[in-house]
Amino acid sequence: MIETIFTRIIRGEIPSHKVYEDERVFAFLDIAPLSPGHTLVVPKEPAATLDGLSDESAAAVGRVLPRIARAVIAATGTPDYNILQNNGAPAHQVVPHVHFHVIPKPGDGRGLGIGWPGGRLDAEDGKRLAAAIAARLAKD
Ligand code: AMP
Repeated sequence: MIETIFTRIIRGEIPSHKVYEDERVFAFLDIAPLSPGHTLVVPKEPAATLDGLSDESAAAVGRVLPRIARAVIAATGTPDYNILQNNGAPAHQVVPHVHFHVIPKPGDGRGLGIGWPGGRLDAEDGKRLAAAIAARLAKD
């Protein structure tokens, strides 16, 4: 497992604007915010991508994400926000340590911009893909 800048931030070796910490989770302000209050919620477990995260860390992050979102809303006065979680360089992940972005959307153009080139789900493809995913899930 390669050590990333986030591991060093969690250890306190690199300064951050910490907003939350517990046994399994660390959260701090993004250094290059898309909007005021842009926060990163990071499991301490150094998994590179979400699919590599343990159930325990996943549960710990899931437990605090809504709480942190509520605090960001209260502190910024911005009720709208996106949760972004990138996995892999082609999917725009820069730091290979799982993290969830909480990005307020003030409605003035700041925040996350999303391109959403939606296609159309073919019925046969849908049947095949859903069956393949469900079969894999049954083994996990
Ligand atoms: P991602 O593209 O999902 O990997 O996002 C990585 C995020 O980490 C970016 O939004 C960066 O601005 C942020 N980041 C990188 N280094 C630091 C740092 N030292 N402190 C706070 N945020 C950081």
